[in-house]
Amino acid sequence: MGGAISLLAVNFIVAQIFVVAFLIIAAKSRSGRPAIWIAACFAIASLSAVFEAVLPFSPFPRIFAIGAFASVLGGFCLLRVGLGLFYQVPVRPAALAAFFIASVIVDLLIYDLPRGILQHAFFYQMPFFFIQAWSASAIVRSRRRTYADRILLGLLALSAAYYLVKIYAAIAAGAGKTAADYLTSPFALISQALGAMLIVGTGLAMLGVMVKDIIDDARASSEIDALSGLYNRRGFMERLGPMLERRGAGHPGALILTDLDHFKRVNDTYGHHTGDEVIRRFSRLLLDLMPSRAVAGRLGGEEFAVFLPLTGLSDARVLAHGIRAAIASMRIEGLAETVTVSASFGVTAVAVGEPLELAMQRADKALYAAKAAGRNRVESAETPAHVVSPAVPHWVGRS
Ligand code: GH3
Ligand code: MG
Ligand code: MG
Repeated sequence: MGGAISLLAVNFIVAQIFVVAFLIIAAKSRSGRPAIWIAACFAIASLSAVFEAVLPFSPFPRIFAIGAFASVLGGFCLLRVGLGLFYQVPVRPAALAAFFIASVIVDLLIYDLPRGILQHAFFYQMPFFFIQAWSASAIVRSRRRTYADRILLGLLALSAAYYLVKIYAAIAAGAGKTAADYLTSPFALISQALGAMLIVGTGLAMLGVMVKDIIDDARASSEIDALSGLYNRRGFMERLGPMLERRGAGHPGALILTDLDHFKRVNDTYGHHTGDEVIRRFSRLLLDLMPSRAVAGRLGGEEFAVFLPLTGLSDARVLAHGIRAAIASMRIEGLAETVTVSASFGVTAVAVGEPLELAMQRADKALYAAKAAGRNRVESAETPAHVVSPAVPHWVGRS
């Protein structure tokens, strides 16, 4: 086998590996559609290796040369569809189809031109430049900018640039007069090796982006409580750790612990289903009433916590009173007309660098005191001496 032909065989096999990998991703990820389009991209693009391998032996080289061109370009168009779906930017299938058909027609028209002249090189390479730039623009337009996204964007931009440089290189290096000559030229070997590296790199980067999404998804769902949509205990603790260590902020904030009153009775009287509805409504209330920078979690059963960064004890008490009043007057579907649910609250200030467990214990004591004092109440923990409690963030008034 000649160098170019054996490279084609390797390209074909690598493309099939990508097809399988993206089909697996499609089966495993939340939104499988983009991965299916990218699997189709590699399946279609891999046909070009078959066309190019057969071309030198065929009495109809024109058909196979056009087939090779169309399969790579078609594959790139499918990649653009997959990227558009994945990055949630418009796909415009009609524009893509028109671009593809027009490019294939132009390729037919220039087929008889000698390779290695500007006209041929320009019209042959421009569609590849254009489609890769179009794909890169999908990532630019999306708001995602993780490292994996940036690498993928870089590779697509590099691919686009590669096809531009190829116009010049095809002329300078001499690409043979016909399609068959081209395949045996040293230029074909180098250009196919480079092109293959860029395509493999792009495929790997795309796999990386998608696998990272699957891992992030799994991690997020392990930290979110399915019933309430709030963080579960683990997620809440994970979020709070870095917030409590933010020493520059002077004072981390305040913690509210809350527990629904006589919730067992709700379950016993109206059933578990209604109990669940109460938990959902109360969680929504917390999210609606707390400031956007606060973090809320369902620590277990009918017990919840809200951390308020850069907030003094008195402001936290005001919020707790607001939540208390809101739940106590809320009508909840499934409960009798006259029945409402109440909650008790324990509030504490949290010191910079203080272990979360200590603050939790103080808030829990205050919550217990609220229960003991008759429920439907807000109680505050006594602020220990080491907890300075400025009501305003430290930067206010600083000169
Ligand atoms: P108190 O005012 O002292 O807090 O009384 P309580 O009845 O609310 O407290 P207790 O701890 O005795 O009961 C809590 C109940 O919460 C018992 C449990 O069945 C119920 N519970 C825990 N998790 C869930 C849940 O996910 N859904 C429902 N519907 N009930 C739950
Ligand atoms: Mg309770
Ligand atoms: Mg409880």
